[in-house]
Amino acid sequence: MSLCGATANAKMMAAYNGGTSAAAAGHHHHHHHHLPHLPPPHLHHHHHPQHHLHPSSAPAVHPVQQHASSAAAAAAAAAAAAAAMLNPGQQQPYFPSPAPGQAPGPAAAAPAQVQAAAAAAVKAHHHQHSQHPQQQLDIEPDRPIGYGAFGVVWSVTDPRDGKRVALKKMPNVFQNLVSCKRVFRELKMLCFFKHDNVLSALDILQPPHIDYFEEIYVVTELMQSDLHKIIVSPQPLSSDHVKVFLYQILRGLKYLHSAGILHRDIKPGNLLVNSNCVLKICDFGLARVEELDESRHMTQEVVTQYYRAPEILMGSRHYSNAIDIWSVGCIFAELLGRRILFQAQSPIQQLDLITDLLGTPSLEAMRTACEGAKAHILRGPHKQPSLPVLYTLSSQATHEAVHLLCRMLVFDPSKRISAKDALAHPYLDEGRLRYHTCMCKCCFSTSTGRVYTSDFEPITNPKFDDTFEKNLSSVRQVKEIIHQFILEQQKGNRVPLCINPQSAAFKSFIR
Ligand SMILES: [Zn+2]
Repeated sequence: MSLCGATANAKMMAAYNGGTSAAAAGHHHHHHHHLPHLPPPHLHHHHHPQHHLHPSSAPAVHPVQQHASSAAAAAAAAAAAAAAMLNPGQQQPYFPSPAPGQAPGPAAAAPAQVQAAAAAAVKAHHHQHSQHPQQQLDIEPDRPIGYGAFGVVWSVTDPRDGKRVALKKMPNVFQNLVSCKRVFRELKMLCFFKHDNVLSALDILQPPHIDYFEEIYVVTELMQSDLHKIIVSPQPLSSDHVKVFLYQILRGLKYLHSAGILHRDIKPGNLLVNSNCVLKICDFGLARVEELDESRHMTQEVVTQYYRAPEILMGSRHYSNAIDIWSVGCIFAELLGRRILFQAQSPIQQLDLITDLLGTPSLEAMRTACEGAKAHILRGPHKQPSLPVLYTLSSQATHEAVHLLCRMLVFDPSKRISAKDALAHPYLDEGRLRYHTCMCKCCFSTSTGRVYTSDFEPITNPKFDDTFEKNLSSVRQVKEIIHQFILEQQKGNRVPLCINPQSAAFKSFIR
């Protein structure tokens, strides 16, 4: 896992400040900044192989990858599909167990047929099944990679192109109306997002007949690690890493907030990182559209306690996207200090740790707090702020770093910096430069130099529309709407995917 080098370049800065400059940053130096080998057992694709500057540090290329761009990959993957969890296929549902005497579920197609089907996929969703192929190629087995609050995530092979992807099962979707709505909202969001620092759905598996429709499977890009694993690992984190991670968190958050979405559970474990240090915000199980009407109450079931904003701890009934910025501030400090900034045992102690650092808040800053929380603060000793201790987090806690951190860790949410304004802070200039010099997909290189995008931190327009939620009134109704929604998503160009119930992996996956 490594960063490419990029020195602060006046031309690049000119490009950032004044639009595009095609010739900018044509010659960047290649520093050797290694982000340690994070547990990435797999390094499957580099977005910019021409910019991957540390071949010696790259893990061995997996056999699958060597074929990744060739048609052989599809065939090779299909050959192993009997053992793999995903199948291309349309006719057969993935879930209902076969009735006695009925043919088994979808078997893997023979390589030639899959190739043909892949070629024809653009025109027609035609596909044939046949017997299991005999050969077993060296294909990486499917395996679990994570267990989130709302589902299990597996690393699997997409049989259509041989690429490794993440498969997330959303379980117990249709237990009650609340979980139906939550999952539908997350699904809609995953299909809505189009931003490199926000995880989105690449695909949703074909649902079975609605009578058998109990689970939803979403395919996303596969990410090898997350910031929590990186922070607790013993490997060094350079200030370049901290800058490029923070830049990407804020870049993704600016996009989410522009869509009118509060994430509400920003924490290191929800910030996925791949082997090129590209970061994506994930897990929208708690995300919701911001409530602009301050008289409307909002639910309190938000955000892992360590990253919970003071206004939530103090029982505010209304909060804004500033709660996400608070979480980012905590994570920024954690990246610098390699330990959780406010690690308390209870919400009250959490608030006490915050006021130890920021000092006793003014009455103005507590104006939205509930009376009990306000009384707790006023009952206690008057505390002076102790912000200079932030310089002791690490030698990387420079004046600029602490300055930005102090703009995020502001008690009063209305005075807390926004993602957009944070991105304009000088601390993030180097992160932006590095990201757009060798990590992004929005800029590209030519023989004469790098061509930069005109908008380094894009927003979305229109906003995410959640009016669909207003008329959801029964589990059966939502189930039908979700079923229809998934089928509509699949009216694309690719052969739909379904689960291979014959695979060994599937048997443990469903448990
Ligand atoms: Zn770019």
